[in-house]
Amino acid sequence: MTTENLHLEGAPFLKEQNRGLYEPAGPKATYEAAVRSTENNREITDAIPYWQDWRNAAEQIKTFAVANLDKLLVQFEQNITARGATVLWAETAEEANRLVLDIARRHNVKTVVKGKSMVSEEMELNHAFQSAGIRAMETDLGEYIVQLAGQRPTHIVTPALHLSAEDVGKLFEEKLGEPFSAEHEHLTNIARRHLREEYLKADMGMSGCNFAVADTGTLAVVENEGNVGLSTSTPPVHVALVGIEKMLPSIDYLPVFLNLLARVGTGQKLTSYTHLIHGATPGKELYVILLDNGRTKILQDPAARKALTCIRCGMCLNVCPVYRRVGGWAYGWVYPGPIGSIITPHLVGLKQAGTLPFASSLCGACSEVCPVKVDISHQLVHLRHRAVNEPSPANSLIDRITWNVWAWAMCGPVRYSLAAWAMRVGMRIIGLVPRSLHVDKLRAWTRGRELPPLSGPAFRTRWMRRRTDRKVAELRKDVCGSCCAACGLAKQKKNESNRP
Ligand code: SF4
Repeated sequence: MTTENLHLEGAPFLKEQNRGLYEPAGPKATYEAAVRSTENNREITDAIPYWQDWRNAAEQIKTFAVANLDKLLVQFEQNITARGATVLWAETAEEANRLVLDIARRHNVKTVVKGKSMVSEEMELNHAFQSAGIRAMETDLGEYIVQLAGQRPTHIVTPALHLSAEDVGKLFEEKLGEPFSAEHEHLTNIARRHLREEYLKADMGMSGCNFAVADTGTLAVVENEGNVGLSTSTPPVHVALVGIEKMLPSIDYLPVFLNLLARVGTGQKLTSYTHLIHGATPGKELYVILLDNGRTKILQDPAARKALTCIRCGMCLNVCPVYRRVGGWAYGWVYPGPIGSIITPHLVGLKQAGTLPFASSLCGACSEVCPVKVDISHQLVHLRHRAVNEPSPANSLIDRITWNVWAWAMCGPVRYSLAAWAMRVGMRIIGLVPRSLHVDKLRAWTRGRELPPLSGPAFRTRWMRRRTDRKVAELRKDVCGSCCAACGLAKQKKNESNRP
């Protein structure tokens, strides 16, 4: 399976093209890694008595930053420009790609090394480079692996979460001609050997940005492999891609976020490297591209605005029972899991991604672990409401009819009984129809699962029977009074004597 065709295709959650990814026995590696990460995270956060204070502080700082984005962005631009950087603004992903390619042409760039950046995934930058004949190499180990495999990341922090060490060993054997190994250290060494050369040859380096600090004009980038340090400092040109929501008002607040992000994102006290880039290195060029690409649409919706406070730690993905089962590709766009389900409909529109808010059990596990307290469950409900009232795949005539009939049936005991009876008959009939003839939503459900068998008589039938039995018992008591026990005894004795 290739993920090429999934990008921007309208988040085809649980559709035919994702077959195999969300079958119950499917993404075992994703499930195991997500569970491991959740347990590790719980251990770390439980050990910090003031964890909730950090979360509260982070929530308030980011809420302030989002409310004052217009001023902070300008302040950031002024401060970093004063130290030699060039700041460019892009309204869309296409515009951002154009700006990057312009820079590349101006500096005669033939090869690029890239640090991990979800914004670059959002822009489809590798495709833009490819079309312009520029060789772009991912240097983050996970990104490097998925690029070699011709796939897309399945997780926003650990892009190759869906692959086991054996998978990676086979991939390196096939693509790099290396002897097979499933040893983590050995695999890392192979990647390091192949990548080291690339930094030295590259004409341009690229990075994302975890936090952009307004009062100092600082780009804060965290990482564990040293690849961002090499990508941003070795080539003569550095281009940083920054989503406009990354702003922090002051450098004083940065430590709270570094503490939270490392602990929740990768289970560390602090990431191995924290780069603070305050401006261009003398003799080198630094470009910062500030990308909107739909973020101001989120800003316009007061009920959705909090989604912009997300720091992309990935924890809501790890705890999500849906993500654990279906993996990242099933969501159909670059941001999977709960956070993807609340931002994608804004970024690509409800018409394309209106089904994503329904890709949740609303269990609330994501909101509970989020380090900046994004109210994901509320936002999912808000988006569901919008999706069924505005043009979107969730607002279809058939859905409207179904839900109106359902609402009608729920509003009266006789109607309810009739509907329950029809449902039971329907389930029996469906059980007799071969699976190959199942269509649409029924097919999506039964492709990987068994229809649950009907569990005996309906609740209402059982309730009625119980009431009747009780009434009969009371009647008997009224008729024969105290001899009731003796009758029962006589009946029991008779039964016993009849036994063979
Ligand atoms: S919504 Fe919260 S938990 Fe999910 S990625 Fe963003 S910050 Fe992390």
